[in-house]
Order: sequence, then structure tokens, then C-alpha cells
Amino acid sequence: MNLTRREFTRAIGVSAAASSLTPAARIPTQSAGTPQPKVGYCIVGLGRISMDHFMPACRISQRSQVTALVSGHREKAEKMAAQYNVPSKNIYSYENYNQIADNKDIDAVYIALPNSMHAEYTIRAANAEKHVLCEKPMATTVKDSQAMIDACKAANKKLMIAYRCQYEPTNLRAVQLIRDGKLGTIQAIESANGFKEHAGEWRLSRKLAGGGPLMDVGIYSMNACRYLTGEEPVHIAAYASVIDRDGRFNEVEENVSWTMKFPSGVVASCNTTYGAEMPGFFRVHGSKGMIHMEPAFAYQGLHLKAQIQGEPFIDEPNNQKDPYQFVLEADDFAQCIRQNREPKANGEEGLRDMQWMAEIYKLAGVKQA
Ligand code: NAD
Repeated sequence: MNLTRREFTRAIGVSAAASSLTPAARIPTQSAGTPQPKVGYCIVGLGRISMDHFMPACRISQRSQVTALVSGHREKAEKMAAQYNVPSKNIYSYENYNQIADNKDIDAVYIALPNSMHAEYTIRAANAEKHVLCEKPMATTVKDSQAMIDACKAANKKLMIAYRCQYEPTNLRAVQLIRDGKLGTIQAIESANGFKEHAGEWRLSRKLAGGGPLMDVGIYSMNACRYLTGEEPVHIAAYASVIDRDGRFNEVEENVSWTMKFPSGVVASCNTTYGAEMPGFFRVHGSKGMIHMEPAFAYQGLHLKAQIQGEPFIDEPNNQKDPYQFVLEADDFAQCIRQNREPKANGEEGLRDMQWMAEIYKLAGVKQA
């Protein structure tokens, strides 16, 4: 590996103390002393990820709360507002969204819209002087991603990309085992993540999604290979294919398979699909042992197993229930705002995945937006 332990700890944000705790024990609680006011999130887009995961997480959080909503459906927004004690004056439409600038209840926006809308709503939030927590993938193009970073920098506002696995204890434990040298020299990584997508979803529209399964769920394997190695790839090879000719894949790819060679020599091979149920996992093979995380990217039930020479078998399920990962994510960003700290999964981190995914599409001969 290229990084020293100190470099890695800084990069991934794991404290030595935290790494010695069991996953369940690592959910942070409000520390004693003067409690800081909760960070007020304006939820932009009332869909599955925001209503089923992020907003329920804010409800149980001690650092984050929902204070405003942006939706194209007033009735749905009013129903959610009643559930979260959001006053009617804090419900916005996509048209009057810029008026969030005048609302002191809002510290940050959480952007949970189709991918192609992330850039516009991030830039408008930055112009309104609000911090931005934006869902993955951060945008549909490298150019838009850079524009988002630039807008937030110009407004002196923080930008975090919602890579929840980078805050999740079993993923962090896997990284720590590697950095501690427990697996010896890392040789190879395998990872996959996919599911069967239904016709009619915006994820199958090139205009709205920017790409197919790679942009949506393959990104978890891409990001994992980068945080597991702590390196950026130096060589990539990729294939894409469409097998089901039923109209779902007229605009985006159905399958992508890619390999990445890292500077240390580690080779990673990854797959993603919209044509089959493909449980998210990674396996890391080293000269002294092997890590197998499965599920590795799900909302709950994550399970780490490791076989290390001369050591007892490691079998560590994370028993925390959804939406605990979203509490960790929302609260880490809340602390970044309160403590004026740069998010670990910042805009540049999102941009790097965008650059590598663009390269994969180019090598696989897939046209991008
Ligand atoms: P969704 O379809 O359930 O919700 C999308 C929301 O955007 C809806 O409220 C919809 O009304 C609104 N919208 C506004 N304009 C739209 C348009 N032109 N077409 C379609 N919807 C429009 O989607 P989702 O699954 O909640 O995904 C939203 C974002 O969150 C995506 O970027 C996705 O990649 C990301 N996501 C992240 C995770 C995670 O674990 N971090 C999981 C799922 C989705």
C-alpha cells in the first residue's frame, strides 16, 4: 500500500480509538457539554431515498433535523411537513427554491433528485448560501461536477457527497484491517453490485440518469476499491453489454464489467448490472488473508468476515438497523458545518469517481450524456 497508517487515518477519518470498538458501539452520541443547535436540512426531492431513509434518520438524530422541503407535489409536501413539524412557510417548489436564501431555519440542503438535476440544485443552493449534501453520483458529467465544486467554493459553503459506506463501521473496519497490514500484501479485489431494474424508471433515461447501473450502483464498487486500496487506478479496462432487448436498455447500458490496476499492483475486477439481482459485496485477497464483506453496500445487515493467518476467524455482522447509516452521514456533515471541517466525502472525492466512470464508459464504447 502507498499510504502510511497516519496518512490513511487522515484520508478515511478513522480514529484509532474508534477502530478498536465493535461496529454497534461506534454510533456517535452527543458529547457532554453545551449542546450545539441541530443543523436544519432542507430536503430537495421527496422520493424513496429522502422519505424512507434520510428523513427518518433526521428524526432520530441528535445533530440533524428536517426544517424545510422542496417538492413539485404540494400535497405530498404538506403531508411530510405535518409528519416532521415543518411549517408551511418552509415548503418550497422547484420554481421558488432560490428563496431558501432568506430562510434562517435552513443550514444545508439534502439533494435527492434524479442525477441530472444534482448540479443545478447544488449550484442554486450554493448561490443561496446554503451548505450541500448531495446524493451520489454527484452529477452526470465531470464538467457539472467541477461546476458544483466551484460554486460551493465561491460561496464558501461545504459540499459533501452522500457516500454513506465511507461512514459505516464494518466498511471502515475492513479498511483498517488492510492498513494495519493484517492481510499482508494486497493482491486482488473483487466487487459487484447490481439489481433488476423495472421499465419506466428514470434510472433508464440517459437524460435523467446520465448512465446505467455503473452510475447508480457500480459506483459503490468503484468507490470501495478506492477506499480499500487508498489509491487511484493507473490503468482501466472495461466492457459494457445489453442482453435483454425488451426496450429497457435503449438509452443506458445493462451490464458493465471493468478492471482497474492500482499503483501498488493491486488489480480489482468489478461487475454491475440492471439485468439481475447481484448482491453487493467485496472480497480483498492478501498474502496473509482474505476479507469478505457481504452485504457490503446495503442499508442494513452488513457483514464482515476475515480469515487471517494465525488469527481467530473474524465474523462481524453490523446489527444496526436502517436508517442508522443515514444518521452517521447526516450527523458527520452537521459536525463539518458546526466545526468548520472539510467533509471526508467532499466534492473532489465525488469528482474522482465521476472521472473514472467517464473513463470506463469511454473504454467500453458507451456514449455519455
Ligand atoms: P426517486 O425516483 O424515488 O425520487 C426522486 C425524486 O425526484 C422524487 O421526489 C421525484 O418527484 C423528484 N423529481 C423531480 N423531477 C423529476 C423528474 N424529472 N423525474 C423523476 N423524478 C423527479 O429516486 P431515489 O431512489 O430517491 O433517488 C434519488 C437520488 O438518490 C439519486 O441520485 C440516487 O442515485 C440517489 N440514491 C442514493 C442511495 C444511497 O443509498 N445513497 C439510494 C438510492 C438512491
